[in-house]
Amino acid sequence: MQHLQILWPDSIDIREVSPRDGLQAEPQILPTEQKVELIKKLGQAGLRRIEAASFVHPKWLPQMADAEEVMRQIPRSANIRYSVLVPNLAGLERALGTKPDEITVFVSASETHNRKNVNRSIEESVEGFKTIVSRSHVSGVEVSAVIVTAFGCPYEGAVPVSRILDLIDQFQGMGIRQVTLGDTVGTANPRQVYHTIKTIYNRFPDIMLGLHFHDNRGTALANMLAAISAGATYFDTALGGIGGSPFSPGAGGNLATEDLVYILEESGISTRVELSSLIATGDLLEQWIGHELPSRVHRARGRMVPVSGERQE
Ligand code: ZN
Repeated sequence: MQHLQILWPDSIDIREVSPRDGLQAEPQILPTEQKVELIKKLGQAGLRRIEAASFVHPKWLPQMADAEEVMRQIPRSANIRYSVLVPNLAGLERALGTKPDEITVFVSASETHNRKNVNRSIEESVEGFKTIVSRSHVSGVEVSAVIVTAFGCPYEGAVPVSRILDLIDQFQGMGIRQVTLGDTVGTANPRQVYHTIKTIYNRFPDIMLGLHFHDNRGTALANMLAAISAGATYFDTALGGIGGSPFSPGAGGNLATEDLVYILEESGISTRVELSSLIATGDLLEQWIGHELPSRVHRARGRMVPVSGERQE
């Protein structure tokens, strides 16, 4: 029996998704100025990639109806890349007008989920990406893709890795450089994550592979560490661990940015993000959304500060 040798990376990169993936799941719709303030503070904490808005039609997603206004008001800087989620060509037209640095498209790894989510087959979704990618590239905007339900589907169960490889192959043919795998319902396990990522790197050694873990069952951190041990260095996280189902706030959110930053910085892996700033911004977010954040590190107030002046006995 061979022991697993982990090559710990010096640093990892985060795409902060709370302003989009997080807030779209909250029943409380934040006013534009609070969204802008949140994004500003996330940038000040050191996050350099922020998913700022979604251009899904406001009829389906009233939480993101002010996407144009948010994009107009956020501070632009050469150090921060703002990405926006685009579901179709109508969304793309709205999005391109707001000058994002990056556009994100998404498709499910399972047919049933894709139909329920966007009312199209996987093939139709991927076909639609071609125009989105070419138009974005003409405007000088990069496109990244997210494969949702990549580790399991609530309708179909297990998802074969071959399906993910096939999608990545098609994306690479279109000029999409970064692909993110979403554990949408939080059913991935560390061994599966490790195996999936190793298989992908074997076939596509130059891929920028991102991971997007949900914490429905408390497995997100374990899966993140399994992903790192397989060589992954790009992760989506959300401040406070918000996100998930709009109908059960607090449950099943995204991997919390604070939790990832804490565990990696304590392990000597740089995230270039200031944990104390995340805690302070989390306090504000908690007030705005009106409920406690799921993040454990937020509740523990970050790192342990030794108590001075008193003997602890
Ligand atoms: Zn998510």
